[in-house]
Amino acid sequence: MSLPKDAAAVILLRQNTDPSNPEVFWVKRSDKLAFLGGFYAFAGGQIDPTDSEVEVKNAPNPETAMMISGAARELFEELGVLVAHGGELLTKGQRASLLDDLVSGRVSWPALLQHYELHLDANDFAYAGRWVTPPFSPRRFDTWFFLVDCPGKQEPNVTPGELSSGEWITAKNAVARWSNGEVTAVPPTLHALKTLTNGITPDLVDRFLSIPQARGEIVQRIEFRPNYICFPVRTPTRPPATHTNCYLVYTSKEILIFDPGSPYEDEQSALATMVNELKSEGRRVTRIILTHLHSDHVGGVNALRTHLGDEVVVCAHEQTADALTDIKVDQLISDGDLLCLNGEPAITLRALHTPGHARGHLCFHDDERGILLTGDNVVGLGSVLIDPPQGNMIDYLRSLARMRSISDLTVLFGGHGPAMAAPYLKIDEYINHRLEREAKILDAVRAGVTTPADIVSAVYTDVSPKAYEMAERSVIAHLEKLKVDGKI
Ligand SMILES: [Zn+2]
Repeated sequence: MSLPKDAAAVILLRQNTDPSNPEVFWVKRSDKLAFLGGFYAFAGGQIDPTDSEVEVKNAPNPETAMMISGAARELFEELGVLVAHGGELLTKGQRASLLDDLVSGRVSWPALLQHYELHLDANDFAYAGRWVTPPFSPRRFDTWFFLVDCPGKQEPNVTPGELSSGEWITAKNAVARWSNGEVTAVPPTLHALKTLTNGITPDLVDRFLSIPQARGEIVQRIEFRPNYICFPVRTPTRPPATHTNCYLVYTSKEILIFDPGSPYEDEQSALATMVNELKSEGRRVTRIILTHLHSDHVGGVNALRTHLGDEVVVCAHEQTADALTDIKVDQLISDGDLLCLNGEPAITLRALHTPGHARGHLCFHDDERGILLTGDNVVGLGSVLIDPPQGNMIDYLRSLARMRSISDLTVLFGGHGPAMAAPYLKIDEYINHRLEREAKILDAVRAGVTTPADIVSAVYTDVSPKAYEMAERSVIAHLEKLKVDGKI
């Protein structure tokens, strides 16, 4: 589990915005970013070591000063908006050349401010909470959020690179777009937008800070998209992952629970508490569904069944049901089966049998929303192990191709790590990665390398020796495929 790094973000408010219907500048992160690519967010990023060298007027302490300095720098770097006293004297052209100097590294942030006699003031940056990325993520940040009024005569402009676009939008419209399923976002973004829908009032900051997650407590219930709760639970899984995503898909009447994977009591009771909360609003859990047999995906099934009692049935593919010894599967799911949830909004999921990582592996597709639950076939953290005989490389590549062929996907929800909002890029990356490995393995074999262990040391030059045992399993899977393909 990685430790959170300091970061700062700016919720930029339009100058003279209507306090009852405020407008905010949000950005779309580039699809190509490994971390939260394709997500909607606010300008911001990691604190730079030089941020602490900047003096910030009226800052209560050095830590806050550093965070404000970082927030101001990120805002300038990403959107070209400079919130500094003295900055109002600069022309648009001067600002642009300053930005160019900063982004190209010709001048540091503290030197730039000093040279142009610009001063940051804490009163321009209203603290609006501090959010810590949950431990299921490959990258983690402890992010301070600041509400900032966009200075007059400055118009935010997305600097190409990390961001693909940005626009002013009323908080109400932004929340509506998320509710309509057009936007994928992390909890702090949504919380900010939802809080702003109630207007800019004297108690605005209090409302921002009213939930414990805005004061650094870890969020466990994550709704990247409406009606799909991602609930990471700690599991004995394969590093670098430490958690498995349990998903709860819900309507006004029903809840489906996918992969309650944790064998640990504290995690099981956290899940049970949240399930109780959803139930108390008039819903019923109808099914527990397993994407595949691995213990980090099924470790909490029996406990959850005991908690829920007779109302629930456990469902899985036949090949998963056959292989599980201490979990009773009540209902089989085959390729093409439809899972229909009653209530509002109606949700239908189609099961896809997608073997490769495991023989009975299932993915679930919500055609209406462009959502694909990918289990362990595609994950937001770490790599996918193809370990024969459960694992099969031919099947796996076929399954990836099938997932790739689904039209209008907008997001992938994997078994580990954050959601993936650039689905086709992600699947292509997976396919290409495997084909590149295969080509290198074939080269090694043709060059006379004969044992899987020797192939690993020749080909897996990018992985640590600790992972060699796993890599050897993958090599065997590749060799099996190459044999079937008639290449060796
Ligand atoms: Zn697995």
